[in-house]
Amino acid sequence: MGRFILALDQGTTSSRAIVFDRAGTIKAIAQQEFPQIFPQSGWVEHDPEAIWSSQAQVVVDALAQANLSAGDIAALGITNQRETTIVWDRDTGEAIANGIVWQDRRTAQFIDGLKAQDLGETFRSKTGLVLDAYFSGSKLAWLLDNVPGAREKAEAGKLAFGTVDCWLVYKLTGGKVHATDMSNACRTLMFNIRTLDWDDDILQILNIPRSLLPEIKSCSEIYGETDADLFGSAIPIAGIAGDQQAATFGQSCFETGQGKNTYGTGCFMVMNTGKSPMESKNQLLTTVAWKRDGITDYALEGSIFVAGSLVQWLRDGLGIIKTASDVEALAESVPDTGDVYLVPALTGLGAPHWDQYARGAIVGISRGTTAGHIARAALEGIAFQVADVVKAMESDSGIPLTELRVDGGATANNLLLQIQADILGVPVVRPKITETTALGAAFFAGLAVGYWSSPDEITELWQEERRFEPTMDAEERNRRLARWQKAVGRSQSWVDA
Ligand code: ADP
Repeated sequence: MGRFILALDQGTTSSRAIVFDRAGTIKAIAQQEFPQIFPQSGWVEHDPEAIWSSQAQVVVDALAQANLSAGDIAALGITNQRETTIVWDRDTGEAIANGIVWQDRRTAQFIDGLKAQDLGETFRSKTGLVLDAYFSGSKLAWLLDNVPGAREKAEAGKLAFGTVDCWLVYKLTGGKVHATDMSNACRTLMFNIRTLDWDDDILQILNIPRSLLPEIKSCSEIYGETDADLFGSAIPIAGIAGDQQAATFGQSCFETGQGKNTYGTGCFMVMNTGKSPMESKNQLLTTVAWKRDGITDYALEGSIFVAGSLVQWLRDGLGIIKTASDVEALAESVPDTGDVYLVPALTGLGAPHWDQYARGAIVGISRGTTAGHIARAALEGIAFQVADVVKAMESDSGIPLTELRVDGGATANNLLLQIQADILGVPVVRPKITETTALGAAFFAGLAVGYWSSPDEITELWQEERRFEPTMDAEERNRRLARWQKAVGRSQSWVDA
């Protein structure tokens, strides 16, 4: 057996490949950004070929960096940006249009139409999801209705749909395998979380031919192998999980009640809720955590659309920082926000508010407000959104949060994590390996081929790097949370439907 596991981490802004050893240590990491396409306000697209070529290139780069050949790799695991919707032609293997990215809001009115037919409860009980343009179903319907000739081809069985994992498996296997895993399938708005299959009633409502859809597999099994021509020799593809579920696995949240929060482009809090789906009364999503060894674990998830991307906006939109990491020093240049609140609703609000028509707001600006105050308010805005989700999760699960395990690119920011601990009133814990998303994918692949023997072995690999203890008193915390709620109110229903 090969001595290493390779994780392919196909994120919203970049593709990465990471080589792990048995101790979960990173041996090599290669990363490539790819273009974000914004054709109109509220639209976000990716070129599927750019996703694929960047992902294939970083595999080559990572192997070269570690001085390895494909034969040294026991298996590869895939983790990916979820919900992003790609349709390709089965004959040519080419995408029929750009992929519609999870952040894209173009189907908001289509979703309103479903809500107007009182279908919210049908979708919630079958899929565990809230009706929102976020998920793949409405995006797929849009492509079929708007790309010339797509619907006829789909009816004739000539097209294939996939989320990014599925697209990568298709490309990696040279077009041999059209399959996805349950953690991705359950984010499409077409998957029934109780029958664990595509739901025919929903396919009918959305007018999606079943022939488009991939086969649904577990998160940890051999799906196929990479085309030998790609990387020198064939590598078994043995793990697939959506990025947030993979991070939850990579953080060893195997027990009911354990959870993590990831600070990447968006923020995603996921809590393992055990072997049956738990309904949310607070607008959280009920989702499959993973299926492994024939057993399905479920989770509650709070999805926040804008977190790290708010920092990108400070950099690219406002130009008040040069690199994302500059935000920490700028925010530290002031002792507080000067009562400025920033609601990061740049693409609407996700959990627990779910307002497609909210937009970002900066309130409380006065003559003395500086870039430092805005930067600090941005970090607080990210942390307040997380606090709203934590409150909803505690209320749904009846389990009070005792500490928050965190990961993702923005957790390099110590000030952000200190603010988070202060606003939550519980410690925030950063692990030694913050590449937990890729690690989760590696674990799924490694478990499938016997590289690791059991999750217990994995639990032992988790190590704390730093713990941020809360220092704010409850009175101040509550005062700020109340101001935040007022600011959220200002951002809601801003765009006319
Ligand atoms: P994704 O997987 O969603 O592409 P990552 O986990 O790689 O995201 O994190 C990248 C995000 O983190 C970017 O949006 C970036 O702006 C943000 N980020 C990176 N470093 C920092 C920092 N020091 N402080 C705040 N945000 C940061």
